[in-house]
Amino acid sequence: MFKKILIANRGEIALRVQRACRELGIKAVVVYSEADRDAKYVRLADEAVCIGPAPSAQSYLNMPAIISAAEVTDAEAIHPGYGFLSENADFAERVEKSGFVFIGPTPESIRLMGDKVSAKQAMQRAGVPTVPGSEGALPDDPAEIKRIARSIGYPVIIKAAGGGGGRGMRVVHTEAALLHAVQTTKSEAAAAFNNPEVYMEKFLQNPRHIEIQVLADQHRNAVHLFERDCSMQRRHQKVIEEAPAPGIPRRLIERIGDRCAAACKKIGYRGAGTFEFLYENGEFYFIEMNTRVQVEHPVTEMITGVDIVRQQILIAAGEKLPFTQRQLQLRGHAIECRLNAEDPYKFTPSPGRITTWHAPGGPGVRVDSHIYSGYTVPPNYDSMIGKIIVHGDTREQALARMRGALAEVVIEGIKTNVPLHRELMVDANFEAGGTNIHYLESWLAQRERG
Ligand code: ADP
Repeated sequence: MFKKILIANRGEIALRVQRACRELGIKAVVVYSEADRDAKYVRLADEAVCIGPAPSAQSYLNMPAIISAAEVTDAEAIHPGYGFLSENADFAERVEKSGFVFIGPTPESIRLMGDKVSAKQAMQRAGVPTVPGSEGALPDDPAEIKRIARSIGYPVIIKAAGGGGGRGMRVVHTEAALLHAVQTTKSEAAAAFNNPEVYMEKFLQNPRHIEIQVLADQHRNAVHLFERDCSMQRRHQKVIEEAPAPGIPRRLIERIGDRCAAACKKIGYRGAGTFEFLYENGEFYFIEMNTRVQVEHPVTEMITGVDIVRQQILIAAGEKLPFTQRQLQLRGHAIECRLNAEDPYKFTPSPGRITTWHAPGGPGVRVDSHIYSGYTVPPNYDSMIGKIIVHGDTREQALARMRGALAEVVIEGIKTNVPLHRELMVDANFEAGGTNIHYLESWLAQRERG
């Protein structure tokens, strides 16, 4: 087993990984930017190395600085967390070439899945259902593009092969708008992702976002840890996640989960990963794979009892998965609310000093956050400052516990989205379960109109 791991991330996930290290008796090295110097998890780490000024490009995305931090501290492995360099194949490659273990899949897997066109093709070969669309990237010929759109049927969505984070997508409703949309998406993709390739898919009108968590070791074992429902989104950003997904027959989940585990074996995947699907009219359509731990991994941990971050570390160290698919049991229901430092209804970021933080607690309540009274949320990074996760025997109990937790929580000094979560937890449609990916935005629009 590793003796020392370097955590190449910040905030709640840096703390989460640190906790897993401590439990395994592994020393944790944290890297930090000047903006995160005073964070408590930095002081809590066994060692901490400043890797640069606040802007991520000069710190959390600075590969040479991170690798030298691993060198000077004698770390053996690097955990990338999520975001930042976690899905950067070049980083994974440099980590391994420098003699460290990258806690994640191989650079080849990251590359394969990082390009949405190659990912989709690999999934089709592995028997995972995908959204009907163009075969690979779109050609240049305008007549051919129109023909493809007509054969798919409008509305279609143009997506950048290199896209991510909800960027690089455009919905097209009519042929008149098609070529212009393709061109604009291409130039945006070239500028933003350094890859002008785009592809086309049928635009599903009212899908839910359902994803399957997988774990695969280096000995050709792979399992799925059931699903998460992440349909409560705003601008393609997840706000609330839960597991299991309300109202989806278990046999459908088992079937798609088994396909995902089989696909992992087929592509030689290792580590934790997530297959994201749109789900409509009883069918799953693969949209992309995330080759890292996800923000919402705790809901799966709550319903399976599996520590996903611990497993990531054990897998990277070469250990076999300690359970088979049949040994994995789904228990109860879990819900996660993401805490963001932002205006709850206008969504403008609200960094600054937290004067009071009172965390909720009680049976089935888990808080993953690095904040504390007196902590200053820096303006330089994502506005997510933590997560409240609850577990109950039933969805009703989980909902009741989340309402309780949200009633208890106190965050003063900055604005947060806690008021929004409080409202959503008593919304009749959310309570009923199974709302689609447009629900939150239409709810917000309606609220705005009064
Ligand atoms: P990203 O990597 O940017 O997150 P995804 O491919 O995961 O991109 O898509 C993000 C979101 O965009 C999805 O959760 C869904 O809301 C929407 N989306 C993507 N593809 C389609 C599609 N074919 N039909 C309808 N919505 C889609």
